[in-house]
Amino acid sequence: MGVGMEVKLAECIGFCFGVKRAVDTVYEQIKNGKNIYTYGAIVNNEEVVKDLAGKGVRVLESKEALEGLPESGCASVVIRAHGVPEEVYGILNEKKLECVDATCPFVKRIHRIAEKESRDGRHIVIVGNAGHPEVEGIIGWCGGLVTVLKNEEEAEKFTVPEEEKLCIVAQTTFNYKKFHNIVEILEKKGYNSIVADTICSATEERQRSARTLAAEADVMIVIGGKHSSNTRRLYEICCEECVHTYFIQTLDDLHLELPKAVRLVGITAGASTPNKLIEEVQNYVRINF
Ligand code: SF4
Repeated sequence: MGVGMEVKLAECIGFCFGVKRAVDTVYEQIKNGKNIYTYGAIVNNEEVVKDLAGKGVRVLESKEALEGLPESGCASVVIRAHGVPEEVYGILNEKKLECVDATCPFVKRIHRIAEKESRDGRHIVIVGNAGHPEVEGIIGWCGGLVTVLKNEEEAEKFTVPEEEKLCIVAQTTFNYKKFHNIVEILEKKGYNSIVADTICSATEERQRSARTLAAEADVMIVIGGKHSSNTRRLYEICCEECVHTYFIQTLDDLHLELPKAVRLVGITAGASTPNKLIEEVQNYVRINF
């Protein structure tokens, strides 16, 4: 490592509580010797999914794939942190497959709110990205009307009959400021609404500490899966603060061209990035520069 150069990790980095819990659950299940499936990739990270595949864990890519499994007393299906619609539990039950539920408790809370408030006749408004598995899961717990709003423009256009009551929830990883803007727009319309701020602080803390570190670093490295939206967001934040920001999936992607007189290299990683990979990158930079 260059004289006087420092490598520093962001204060909040890598797996959040919910993802760590889900990944640990799969590794524990492997010890039980059953056929293990995960309903969707357990984490948005190809390296982890590859490692699990090497240990015999298979990924069910769709509801149809789950329905196509034979009835069995010796297969477990792990539900990932994002959660699933209620009907998936029904299918698992029917097929007598063991369900190992690793839905993050923060997501489970949204399911309960959606279920209860739907029952009470409220129209559920999910502030989030339609098509995201977590949002799809929440939709599956709404017994009545449900709408997904992803931005302020959609909120402006959203109208319901005056007598309709709303319950507004957020996708856990949604941007805090944007959520509050959307809530404000809906409240101004004068609807009878209750608001549950269900944004998870893990995302915000990770973003805040990435920004703080990027602001003082000469070079920033962001590690994460290319399909992970929270990693992309970290990359954007770091780019705003540090012009020499690199986005890598694995160590092989790292082709650092360090500017002269680098004092501080900062490292951050998305919620799906395992510690092992973070350590590898950290050691590599320490040894090679
Ligand atoms: Fe749970 Fe938060 Fe992690 Fe989502 S980001 S899995 S809600 S801890």
